[in-house]
Amino acid sequence: MAEDPWADYPDSGGWVVVLSPCVGCGHPFSYNPHLVPSVTIAGTRHPICQACVTRVNPLRRANGLPEIVPLAGAYEPLSESAL
Ligand SMILES: [Zn+2]
Repeated sequence: MAEDPWADYPDSGGWVVVLSPCVGCGHPFSYNPHLVPSVTIAGTRHPICQACVTRVNPLRRANGLPEIVPLAGAYEPLSESAL
């Protein structure tokens, strides 16, 4: 029977990072899939990176649209317990 490599770390939880290209700039970035801002195209959510949010917000304001305000933790790893 194999030894449990995590036996010495009973309280350590895992975490998940999702990495994919931004729909705005195409650069890969990591994010929490439950919290990241996104746009839905043909029924599929596409994540938006922080740099693109910062870039588009002045344009949104100028056009009378609300700013995109990312949720806290949107660009941080997702706790294993939140899966
Ligand atoms: Zn981007």
